[in-house]
Amino acid sequence: MLRQDLLALTTDDLTVLSNRGLVKRAFKELEEGELSYDITQDAQGNISIRWSDVECVLPATEELSDRHCNCSATTVCRHLIRSILIYQRTQLLKPNSSPQTSSQFWNPGDISDAELSNYFNKATITRAKSEFNSGHVIELIKSNKPVARIHTLAYTVRFLVPGDIRYTYCDCSEPAPCKHVLYSVWPFRKLQPEQISGIISTQQEAAPIPVDILNDIEDNLISLLSSGIRGINKANIGRLRRLEQNCRTSSLIWLAEIIAEIIQEIERYESRDARFSSTRVVELVGELCIRIDAIRNDTGAVPQLFIRGSQTDKLTDIGAARLISLGCGVQVCHKNVQLTTYL
Ligand SMILES: [Zn+2]
Ligand SMILES: [Zn+2]
Repeated sequence: MLRQDLLALTTDDLTVLSNRGLVKRAFKELEEGELSYDITQDAQGNISIRWSDVECVLPATEELSDRHCNCSATTVCRHLIRSILIYQRTQLLKPNSSPQTSSQFWNPGDISDAELSNYFNKATITRAKSEFNSGHVIELIKSNKPVARIHTLAYTVRFLVPGDIRYTYCDCSEPAPCKHVLYSVWPFRKLQPEQISGIISTQQEAAPIPVDILNDIEDNLISLLSSGIRGINKANIGRLRRLEQNCRTSSLIWLAEIIAEIIQEIERYESRDARFSSTRVVELVGELCIRIDAIRNDTGAVPQLFIRGSQTDKLTDIGAARLISLGCGVQVCHKNVQLTTYL
């Protein structure tokens, strides 16, 4: 029995499941060829690998875990990575092996409830379902490695092996498969067959329109536009600051951010800062007006969460991270140049 799950894992997938350093070491140890091994597979598909230094198992129905190697590591170790690599190599050497190529698009929504219940008990599923239906926005992409971005929780779930939730990666700290896999499989089922990507919102009722705050913002914009930045006084700025705070407490995060940026531009103007840009002020006012209109006239075409922002849209502290530079964007402005580094 071919273990298609193991054959589907690419080097990148192994990096996601462990880390780059471990994958490199595993490759290096194999290349050096100093280790001997004995690989056996039983009728259920469980694989045991007796290496000259450790022993590993790759169970057919359990998730990859530190329990499956007898070394002292407490996470997926290089021995398990090495075991997957050696299994892949021995299978590819066989004359009649025809491992499925994983270049096909697939839909995690096809994963059955029965399969989900192998990894989550009934209580967990029931709890997750009612939480999920309470109003979440999930962005989905079907591909050979489908992705679900849960905007309301700021987690991204990646599916590495077709139909197998043991090989999922989420940026939360729970071991795979975590409960966010449920939050990803369910919305994938709501995509139309021909849809490659989409945004699903489980918000049942329309969010109430905060008419008072929106009116207040418009009144302030009118007075800003009629006096101009030069004519603005301390009382006006104080009102804008209170408005920014009101927006934040009413979950109008993007409106609050725009008002904060307008205040920043006013302060730049007053301190004769070269970064002040009158064009930028107009852009900010325009964006604010567009968002206000979209909140007042909710057609459902775009989730309100994207228009208003959510409490999870905030600065995130990153402890240790490995960032890969993807280049730089350059925008030449009137009196300054803006560089944006993509990571
Ligand atoms: Zn180990
Ligand atoms: Zn998770």
